[in-house]
Amino acid sequence: MSPNSAAARSYLVRQQTLFGDQLILGEAAESAVEPSSEVDVPGVEELAAFEREIRDCQECPLGATRTNFVFGVGNRAADLVLVGEAPGRQEDLQGEPFVGQAGKLLDKMLAAIDLSRQEVYILNVLKCRPPENRDPRPAEVDQCRLYLNRQLSIIRPRLIVALGRVAAKTLLKVEDSLKNMRGRAFNYEGIELMVTYHPAALLRNSGFKPNAWVDFQAIRDRYRELAGLPPVEGPGAAGN
Ligand code: URA
Repeated sequence: MSPNSAAARSYLVRQQTLFGDQLILGEAAESAVEPSSEVDVPGVEELAAFEREIRDCQECPLGATRTNFVFGVGNRAADLVLVGEAPGRQEDLQGEPFVGQAGKLLDKMLAAIDLSRQEVYILNVLKCRPPENRDPRPAEVDQCRLYLNRQLSIIRPRLIVALGRVAAKTLLKVEDSLKNMRGRAFNYEGIELMVTYHPAALLRNSGFKPNAWVDFQAIRDRYRELAGLPPVEGPGAAGN
């Protein structure tokens, strides 16, 4: 796909996410455009079909205790995908990733680099909440990583950000500390991957926040470079 058609695809999906199936074209438009189901946006229908296929999953015991299967949210043709660990209580209740306290902080961090959750795609390693938010078990991760891998292969973003060690080690299949993984560019199936703190870790220890801001500026700069957007200059630029 050419950079232009990738940008057009990303734009159309974002507009659909924000405004629904009727794109408002201004006063000159005589009538609404065709419903988006007739707009050729490769991968979007495939992701929706995949969600329908797996949303009743009972492949591990978490299927029995969840309220909602939490597939993912955002721009289904996003250039940037953020991967968290597992749904918490609010996510389980609402069926959407990162809607609790950690999610509110993530929204603010995205806003600080001029992005919104509608523009990126957000998902988790596990699609179902572990009881009492316990750590994911290896067997659960091994089962659910098949879904994560398929989601990423359909979306094929330009950049993946692993939020925290669980997401990083699941995607990279390495056992390393977050400290060692931050600030480096990894490769996941031909897609660039960066690692930063999980927002819940920042809520527990605000001393990590200056480092997280350094990471988010690097994420912003690399994302803009990979997406062919102009670099940020002035007070918000990295190093200022
Ligand atoms: N923590 C995560 O890793 N994911 C969520 O969706 C919410 C909290």
